[in-house]
Amino acid sequence: MSDGLTPRLGGPRDPRRAADAAPGCVDLAAYPVPELREECGVFGAFAVDHAPVLAYYGLYALQHRGQESAGIAYVTEQGVESLKGMGLVGEVFDMAEVSCWRSAAAIGHVRYPTFGSSNYANAQPLVVQIRQGPLALGHNGQLVNAAVLRQALEEEGAIFQTDSDSEVIAHLIARAKARDMRAAFAEALPRLSGSYALVALTNTALFGARDPNGIRPLSLGRLNGGWLLASESCAFDACGAEFVRDIEPGEMVTITAAGGVESYRFAPAGRPALCSFEYIYFARPDSDIQGKNVHMVRKELGRRLARDFPVDADIVVGVPDSSTSAAIGYAEEAGLPNEIGLIKNRYIARTFIQPTQAGREFAVRLKLNPLRRVVDGQRVVLVDDSIVRGTTSKYIVRLLRGAGAREVHLRITSPPYRCPCYYGIDTSSSAELIAASHDVEAICRAVGADSLAYQTVEGLEAALGYGPDQTCLACFLGNYVVAAPGRGPELPALDQRRSVAFVAGAGEEGRRT
Ligand code: AMP
Ligand code: SF4
Repeated sequence: MSDGLTPRLGGPRDPRRAADAAPGCVDLAAYPVPELREECGVFGAFAVDHAPVLAYYGLYALQHRGQESAGIAYVTEQGVESLKGMGLVGEVFDMAEVSCWRSAAAIGHVRYPTFGSSNYANAQPLVVQIRQGPLALGHNGQLVNAAVLRQALEEEGAIFQTDSDSEVIAHLIARAKARDMRAAFAEALPRLSGSYALVALTNTALFGARDPNGIRPLSLGRLNGGWLLASESCAFDACGAEFVRDIEPGEMVTITAAGGVESYRFAPAGRPALCSFEYIYFARPDSDIQGKNVHMVRKELGRRLARDFPVDADIVVGVPDSSTSAAIGYAEEAGLPNEIGLIKNRYIARTFIQPTQAGREFAVRLKLNPLRRVVDGQRVVLVDDSIVRGTTSKYIVRLLRGAGAREVHLRITSPPYRCPCYYGIDTSSSAELIAASHDVEAICRAVGADSLAYQTVEGLEAALGYGPDQTCLACFLGNYVVAAPGRGPELPALDQRRSVAFVAGAGEEGRRT
C-alpha cells in the first residue's frame, strides 16, 4: 500500500537514461532523438464504475498524443493513489491490476517523447498534498510564463521536484488564498499564460479547464450517468461513452456527486486559437474537435490541394498514417487512383532510436517501405501533412524513386512550417525549420521532388471552416496569440495569406500563385 501521494512506478526501463543503460552499452542519452516532441493526452472519469479501467481505455485511445510515459490517479478511501511509468500504456499498466482498483473517479495522462528531461518525475498525473487536500493534475500544453512564475514561487520558498509546467500550476493552487479547491483553481488559472487543457482530481471532484484562447482541445462526455473528460472524442468512443460538448476557452468545469457538471468562466474568452495542427497532424481522424471531424477536414485539405495545385500524374500516395485521409481527398478531386505506395511498420515506436547515422537510416527503412509493384514506372503525387526539417520528405522521395517512380510530385496539406511553436510542440528555434530559411523552390530541390506545393493559409482556413483568425496559425504565420516572454517571433509575421504557395518544377520554370 502506498502513502497515496508517492506514485507507484510501472513500466519498462528507459534505455535513453544513462542510469538505465546496461554496463558496457552505448549511453543513448548522448544521441539526439530525430523526432519532434509532441503533445500530451489527458483523460478524466467521475461518478462511473471502474473509473481507472475507463482511464486505461481512454489513454489507450489517446496513445498517439504521447508515448514517453503514462499515468493514472484515482480516488480511494485513503486519498488519491497513482501509478505512472515510462513507456506505452500497455507497458506501464497491467490490466488485471487496474481492474482491481475500485474507484469511481480517476484521471489519466500520456506524455510526449522527449530527451534531456525524460524521467519518471516528469510523468503525470502529478499528485500532491496541498492545504486544500490531495490533488492530482494532468496537463496538456505549455505555459509561456512557467519560468517567470517558477522563479517567483521559488523566491517565496516553493520547492520543486520536477521541471514540468504542471508543478507550477499545483504550487499556484496551493498558495491561493481560497481554502476551497474550486475557488483556489479560479484564483490560480488567470495567472497562467500559454496553452493548457487541464484535468484535476480531488477526493470529491473532477475539474477540467481550457486556456482562454482554447489552444489545446478538451471535451466532455457522458457515460451511464457519470462524466468523462478527454483531449479527443476518440477516447469517449473507446469507453462506449457519448460526446456531450467541448469545454469552452476560458471555462472551468467542476464535476461533483452533488452538483453534476457546474461551469465557471475564470477568464473572458480571448481570440479563438485552437491549434490548427491538431487537424493537420496530431489528432486521430476519428475524433471530432469543436464540431469538425478530423478525417473530413484532412480530406478537404487534400481536395483543395488537388484543385489549387493540379499535376499530370498516374497515382496518388499518402504518407501513412497521418496523410491517408488527405490522399483520399486529393485522389477523389483529381480523378486519380489513390494507391497504397508506402507500407508503415506499426510496431516501431516513435522513440526507436539509433546512435549512428547508418543506424538511423536503417531505422527509417524499417519504418517505411515502398510497394515497388505499385509505384514502378508511375508518376506519383505524394501527399504528406508537413515538412518540418525536411528529412522525412527527402527520404521518402528517394525511396519512391528507388522503387521505380518516374516522377514524384510532393503536395503538403499544411502551409510552410516556418516559426517555432511555443504552445506544446517543441520546435524551439527557427533554425530547425527548413521553411524558415528556404523558399519553396529551394525546398523542392532539397528534398529532390519534381514539384512541390504547400497548402495556402487561405486554403487551410477554408478547410477548417471557422473563418479567418479563428484558429492558431502561428507556426505558419508567426502571429502568436499569446506572446512568449523572451522568445520569438524570430521571423516577421506574414500577413499575406496566399503569398506562401509556390509550385516549383525541378529544371522547369516555377509557378507562383
Ligand atoms: P521532418 O522530417 O522533420 O520534415 O518532419 C516531417 C514529418 O514529421 C511529417 O511527415 C509529419 O508527418 C511528421 N511530423 C509533423 N509534426 C510532427 C511532430 N510534432 N512530431 C513528430 N512528427 C511530426
Ligand atoms: Fe499548433 Fe502551430 Fe499554433 Fe503550435 S503554433 S499551437 S503547432 S498551430
